[in-house]
Amino acid sequence: MAINKELYERYKAMKAAKLSASGNNTEKAPVTTQTQQASNKPENSAPVTSYSSLANNNNTEPNNYPENNINYTDKVAKEYNNQFTYSQPAQNQTYIQETTTVPEPAQTHQAPQLKKFALIGYPLGHSLSEYIHLAGFESLGIKATYELIPTPPEELVDRIKYLRNNGYSGFNVTIPLKLPVTMFLDEVDASANIVKAINTVAIDPQTNALKGFNTDVIGFIKAIPQDINLYNKTVAILGTGGAARAAITALAQKQVKEIKLYTRNITNCIELLEYLRKSFPKVEFNAYQIDKFKNLSDMYMVVNATPIGMSGQAVGYSPLEEEEIKTLPPEATVYDVIYNPKKTNLIKLAQKHKYRTITGLDMLIHQALEAQKIWTGLTPDFKDMKIAALENLD
Ligand code: NAP
Repeated sequence: MAINKELYERYKAMKAAKLSASGNNTEKAPVTTQTQQASNKPENSAPVTSYSSLANNNNTEPNNYPENNINYTDKVAKEYNNQFTYSQPAQNQTYIQETTTVPEPAQTHQAPQLKKFALIGYPLGHSLSEYIHLAGFESLGIKATYELIPTPPEELVDRIKYLRNNGYSGFNVTIPLKLPVTMFLDEVDASANIVKAINTVAIDPQTNALKGFNTDVIGFIKAIPQDINLYNKTVAILGTGGAARAAITALAQKQVKEIKLYTRNITNCIELLEYLRKSFPKVEFNAYQIDKFKNLSDMYMVVNATPIGMSGQAVGYSPLEEEEIKTLPPEATVYDVIYNPKKTNLIKLAQKHKYRTITGLDMLIHQALEAQKIWTGLTPDFKDMKIAALENLD
């Protein structure tokens, strides 16, 4: 039988890439500079794959998801992507999994080892994660560092190699790397399957294998007070990005009847709608234009998953007009996933009209707490973590 030359070449490139990305060299944390960014840029850049092509493991066309518009993917990364399988979940599958509890390590007489964790993303600027995580580790009596390592997309390959080979136990991932990082993982937890975004990675201390999780899903749920019963209810979500998809996964798990998505561009949303309908056949999904007047009279909850109102971006703005908020029924809850400022304009307007509100801060703490459960097998103190966040919020 004739050997497929092209396939053989691709296989060789993939092997070489794997070897290089899992090399055993210990290095210094690479520093990001403009010059380095230019020199680290992969030569054979190719567009990132579309939402459903990720699901089908079949790279074809770029789409309009923000994380997908990054020109970071080289041939090497593409090969990684080809090995990575997103599966359609079986019906009735639970997407939100409590992380497995690892038994506490046996007592030893040695001094506790310093554990290393990090956050990668770009730009990072001022991040609350550092304070929250350090407070969590302290509550557990774990000696740990949590570094903020700015990582532009073109440096992702090198950064993963660095974290893998320099004794880190895990790391968090933020914008714009939540999707691209999936290409370098050995395994992906069910929590990240639908969301198509990773915010937490655990590094196996024995094998250095990387496993990705999305703790925003469980973070979103845990921030909802127990007496809010979402079963069979209609919910509105503003935005269709990473936070929105985490909210969708969480709300589907809560067995809502219908999710109305509000987006800037319905056409761009069609592929996502199809995917969601397949993934959650018991939930009805519809999409609406976000800039048109929204009558929310049949909503039990409205979730803001856009950055409108966020500090440094559109602070002082609200994604809903006061007149739209007033259309909500009295029992409705307004959930803004933004955590900085503590009270967005949306939350202030909702409170003015006596609606129940949930801010993004508890979600932020819960997602960090879940990350620490994954990394350590232990549950840190929520209150300590929240105090650390509040102390460091502007
Ligand atoms: P993302 O993936 O970039 O998605 C943002 C979404 O908002 C997109 O659907 C985008 O629409 C839409 N959008 C942006 N600007 C808009 C505008 N001016 N008008 C209408 N829609 C607009 O970002 P993300 O990761 O989902 O984050 C969204 C927010 O959630 C951020 O403020 C982030 O800090 C917050 N967040 C909080 C937590 C927490 O733990 N509390 C966790 C994650 C995220 P297009 O698709 O049309 O661009």
